[in-house]
Amino acid sequence: MNLASLIAELHRLRDSALEAIGAAPDAASLDELRVDYLGKKGRLTAILRGIGDLPPADKPAVGAVANEVRDEVERALAERGRLLRAAALAARLEAEAVDVTTPGRTIGRGSLHPIVETSRRIAEIFGQFGFVVYEGPEIEDDVTNFQMLNIPPDHPARDLWDTLYVDVEGHLLRTHTSPGQIRVMREAAPPIRALLPGRCYRYEAIDASHASEFFQVEGLMIDEGTTMADLRGLLDQFAHAMFGAHRPTRFRPGYYPFTEPSVAFDVRCVVCNGRGCPACSRTGWMTILGAGMVHPVVLRYGGLDPERFQGFAFGMGVERIANLRHAVGDLRLYMDNDLRFLEQFR
Ligand SMILES: [Zn+2]
Repeated sequence: MNLASLIAELHRLRDSALEAIGAAPDAASLDELRVDYLGKKGRLTAILRGIGDLPPADKPAVGAVANEVRDEVERALAERGRLLRAAALAARLEAEAVDVTTPGRTIGRGSLHPIVETSRRIAEIFGQFGFVVYEGPEIEDDVTNFQMLNIPPDHPARDLWDTLYVDVEGHLLRTHTSPGQIRVMREAAPPIRALLPGRCYRYEAIDASHASEFFQVEGLMIDEGTTMADLRGLLDQFAHAMFGAHRPTRFRPGYYPFTEPSVAFDVRCVVCNGRGCPACSRTGWMTILGAGMVHPVVLRYGGLDPERFQGFAFGMGVERIANLRHAVGDLRLYMDNDLRFLEQFR
């Protein structure tokens, strides 16, 4: 092979390499082309084997062309590689594009259940008078739930509560929050200002105004020289904070075994403002809680001397208060967990 044909062959090799590189679709095929053309067993090496047949004077010229061809092919490989990487990056950016200006998905925000919200409002109001929240157990013993509240086993007042008993001798689901009075008296020394919110249970035929599971808030104040006037003043403040500053209130005689005397506490009907309507049975008044002076028997069970300490207790149904605040007419709505109902209290 002579000098001219060898150089022509090198140029053909260059042309075919550049064409193949220009058409290479990806990095892997570029690598194959590099090996094919420039590798130890590649085409350039094969051509250069022909150098041995040339006269020594021609060899440098072929070497120079071979170097040029090698350089050119390598530049083309590098350039094509850059192009392919840029194209791949662009494609990936497009495929994984995130529009950071799109508003995020809104997260559904919960809100307090009207019973919880009302319980907290009650605690907040009495908290301003120094009442501290205590919690008693929902599974209570018979003695604390009844006997220590002046309701002995054979007392007819037990018929006031249809009790759910549990499978442990002498225990039941508390029928009211009142046993908490005994627990607080035994744990804390007077002066006592306690608020006992919580869930209560009774065996009831369930309808719009009866539930087997409901919430009460009990209040207890014990000190030396506490009177019914203190009770009246406190409940007035509560009613005004909850239902409006000028809402009239009244005491009516009531009966509870654990208070003496006992009263029902009424507010002027929040629906008709006293004119008389179905909501207040046309009386113009609504009973919002029961209260009274703590019975001496209860004080003694609480470990206190009734000659020295007096006090009052009151208890209210949280559903009743929530009904009046939000004009809800059916107790069952509070337990159904229907979002269409609950979402109205946001
Ligand atoms: Zn009314």
